[in-house]
Amino acid sequence: MSFQLPKLNYGYSDLEPHIDALTMKIHHTKHHQGYVDKLNAALEGSDLNSKPIEEILTNLDQISEDKKDAIINNGGGHANHTLFWELMTPGGAKQPSGALQEQITKDFGSLDKLIGEVSSTAIAQFGSGWGWLVLDQDKNLEVISTPNQNSPLMLGMIPLLGIDVWEHAYYLNYQNRRPDYVQAWWNIVNWDIVGQKFQKAVH
Ligand code: MN
Repeated sequence: MSFQLPKLNYGYSDLEPHIDALTMKIHHTKHHQGYVDKLNAALEGSDLNSKPIEEILTNLDQISEDKKDAIINNGGGHANHTLFWELMTPGGAKQPSGALQEQITKDFGSLDKLIGEVSSTAIAQFGSGWGWLVLDQDKNLEVISTPNQNSPLMLGMIPLLGIDVWEHAYYLNYQNRRPDYVQAWWNIVNWDIVGQKFQKAVH
């Protein structure tokens, strides 16, 4: 058993103009593949590679010290990107509905306020990292950022939505304009998937 690069549910050019085809192709086939390959190399010979990556990242205390950084970076990279691809869809998908919509209104006031908070948090992340909407340990919605490929799972939180703000996610098209990329990204978010993750996480 080993971890595999997930297939995308859309073509590399399908998220244009918000994310260009070349960025998508390199991001998926080079960056994400690299995390998968290095994760597999780090887990070679252990019994951990039969476990879901979420379980490994939630139980890092069970990883030996010499493997820990490789698992955090590459296991995090694999989990984060797997979610990231799933969260996007050509043309976006509507608005949050049902229980997620109610919780967003309760915790943030409105969807626009949530989007503003995730955006400013992602833009403010110094260097490489991610902006997140998570469900925290008390099952409250929370906006956080993490550096590098650190996963919210390592903090005991469940990621519901995450935007990759590594330069490899946007530099070809947006160069240094991270805020423009972050703003454009909301056009391709699949809120149905976020809602499904929320439902699963609260139960
Ligand atoms: Mn990335």
